[in-house]
Amino acid sequence: MTSFTYDGLPGRVVFGAGAARTQLLGEIDRLGAERILLIGTGKEGVIGARLCAPFADRMIATFTDVRPHVPTEVAERARAAAEHADLVLSVGGGSTTGTAKAVALTTGLPILAVPTTYAGSEVTPVWGLTDRGRKTTGTDQRVLPRTVIYDPELTVALPVDLSVASGLNAMAHCVEAFWAPQRNPISSAVAEAGIRHLVNGLPTIHAAPSDLAARGELLLGAYLAGSAFAVAGSGLHHKICHVLGGAFDLPHAQTHAIVLPYVLAYNLPNAPQAGDRIANALARPDAVTALRELGEKLEIPKGLCELGVTELDIAAVGDDILAIAPADNPTPVTPAGLRALLHAAWSGSDPSRHTT
Ligand code: NAD
Repeated sequence: MTSFTYDGLPGRVVFGAGAARTQLLGEIDRLGAERILLIGTGKEGVIGARLCAPFADRMIATFTDVRPHVPTEVAERARAAAEHADLVLSVGGGSTTGTAKAVALTTGLPILAVPTTYAGSEVTPVWGLTDRGRKTTGTDQRVLPRTVIYDPELTVALPVDLSVASGLNAMAHCVEAFWAPQRNPISSAVAEAGIRHLVNGLPTIHAAPSDLAARGELLLGAYLAGSAFAVAGSGLHHKICHVLGGAFDLPHAQTHAIVLPYVLAYNLPNAPQAGDRIANALARPDAVTALRELGEKLEIPKGLCELGVTELDIAAVGDDILAIAPADNPTPVTPAGLRALLHAAWSGSDPSRHTT
């Protein structure tokens, strides 16, 4: 009989095509908000402005200066913009949600999140801030959005390459949830369901980006992925991507999409049950091959070399990753093992040849 402890996270989820158009104002009222700071940039900002037009009198400002990984100076400017607000409304991807979280972290303001990618940050209490190129993350219940509105219509504008990379970023949350430090039977069940929805939606949106049913599958998968990650925590895969992203300013979702099959191949020999469940959810006999073939079908870059990372770069980050590698990773993280994993992920060679 299994024993475990599970801390469920609070939060209201409103899900449906058109939900942001039809239910946003009702959800704002539900939170009793009258003075709203909108955060969103580029196309997200356009989507946000359109959504907020019917209640323009309640908008105090729009913060558009969103940057990846939330530099501390951006966080300070966003906090200043929120001075007279009673609600932070984030409309956008993980960088925008992260900026809203930076505001909530010090002000305690509630967040209503309307995600437009599959990053999943909107259902985690994890914040991240970058100071002079070094990213720090932490966990605080104050940054967990009170309400999340998932509307597949808003993700149709997300370009196909970003959509598939973002969907595979969500896949990484699910896969890693099987061996992350606070994993438990509930987070694993949520992760397994997330994989099924993601793999249902990904090939379709690659072929037909405006297919709303497939966009809905991906958004539901992203919610489940974020929920599993929020509870299970981050393991070797996230540590590797965190160091790589911070060191070389790499695109977050693409980095996850490339590295995932290699970490899976590294861990599978010592996590056979996780491998079976992941393969089962992917409806294929072998999880590593399934992920590799999915990536090929979705035309994501094969190796980190395609993101401009050099072989020397890869050698340079080994020690930083080793320093934060989880002690309870299914396959112990040795300098030689990590070197081989990183080199394979850099070159884009067949991950199934790199099992330990
Ligand atoms: P992102 O938020 O940086 O967005 C990528 C690009 O897509 C941006 O240019 C954005 O403007 C654009 N975009 C977003 N939605 C769009 C839409 N619907 N149409 C057109 N363009 C759109 O990328 P991301 O992958 O969503 O988020 C990455 C960040 O989120 C990283 O900093 C990562 O660390 C963080 N993150 C945090 C958590 C957490 O739990 N704290 C979880 C996942 C990701």
